[in-house]
Amino acid sequence: MDKNFIPEGWSSIAVHGGQEPESNHAHQTPIYASSTFVFDTAEQGMRRFSGEEKGFIYSRWGNPTIDAAEKKIVALEAFGTSLELKGLLHSSGMAAISTLLLAVLKPGEKLLTHFGLYGGTNELMNRVLTDLQISSLIVDLRDLQLAEEHLKNNKDIRLIYLETPANPTIQCVDIEALCSLAKKYDCKVAVDNTFATPYLQQPFKLGADFVMHSTTKFLNGHGTAIGGILIGKDDTYFKERIIKFHRLLGGNSNAFDAFLLIQGIKTLELRMERHCHNAMEVARFLEKHSLVAKVNYAGLPSHPDHAVAMKQMRHPGPMLSFELKNGLSGGIAFMNKLKMCVRTVSLGTVDTLLSHPASMTHFGVPKPEREKYGITDGLIRMNVGIENIGDIIHDLEQALS
Ligand SMILES: *Cc1c(COP(=O)(O)O)cnc(C)c1O
Repeated sequence: MDKNFIPEGWSSIAVHGGQEPESNHAHQTPIYASSTFVFDTAEQGMRRFSGEEKGFIYSRWGNPTIDAAEKKIVALEAFGTSLELKGLLHSSGMAAISTLLLAVLKPGEKLLTHFGLYGGTNELMNRVLTDLQISSLIVDLRDLQLAEEHLKNNKDIRLIYLETPANPTIQCVDIEALCSLAKKYDCKVAVDNTFATPYLQQPFKLGADFVMHSTTKFLNGHGTAIGGILIGKDDTYFKERIIKFHRLLGGNSNAFDAFLLIQGIKTLELRMERHCHNAMEVARFLEKHSLVAKVNYAGLPSHPDHAVAMKQMRHPGPMLSFELKNGLSGGIAFMNKLKMCVRTVSLGTVDTLLSHPASMTHFGVPKPEREKYGITDGLIRMNVGIENIGDIIHDLEQALS
């Protein structure tokens, strides 16, 4: 794309963003499978290390394929704003989250967060950060008054950590309102934007300081690589603190995974439009079904966070969950009858995925414990795919019968 052409459409940036001219005129960004990069002279090496000259040195610090993927995602998160952002691709979503939390928080400091976080994030806070004397206050952040009380009473809260929408009941918190509270109490806000992607939700526009994604999910879109990205404003703090931690903790990505990610992002708008359209149809179908007790989908007016979701998201997303009336045995029977939809954990791929937390991810968790998080015996979690909607509903219908 010519440097003088400024595209205005989201999909144009998803397709062309981040791609630099390449010396062999390759149409696609090549996979730069090289750990190091060569200096013409010792002086050039000196200039590269001092930062006087731009250029790659070592792939843990930066690599052309990784750079292209980072720039594409950054362009999408900054879409429609004049923000200067910087992204760091990681080996996983958890690596991106670890870099962020370890870089931002110091012993004695606290973070404030909402319940219903991704399981790994929750464990990282409760097992790793606690050993470093960093504690996490888990509060219902949909209650802004409660959020403010905690900020007022705990001056050592340095970070508000959000994930919206979140598992398993697709709860959404108000990013903009929480960002203005954070400003008042001088703390930073990080948003895990994995479920929404920058197509559905742009947290920086709402005042966030950091955005993370598990790129394993919708950004890659095809389930071919584990990855993550951490994005922040391109300022001194990011350069001196975040980039330092990323390089030293060593959670870098690699050229092949970055290549797969670049291919996936090109179709993100098309995929998300179809995912969300299908999810709405599935939610409406399930809501009317006699064996379904409850449907949790942010697009339904019956969802408690419907208004917040519609305020900050383009569409309410591809993820939903529902409760079967006949509990554990009903859940197991339903899962076993599926013929096209896939029985698996995870999310973000083009095919429809279903999981039954009570018999799978949360099998070992005592019932009263998991029910606190809305994981009832009959709860089914669903990533609605981009298949033909008639076929998805047909499969659900026969599995429910
Ligand atoms: C999957 C996921 C993560 C963790 O990402 P990995 O790529 O598996 O390390 C974090 N947050 C959310 C919301 C996720 O869905």
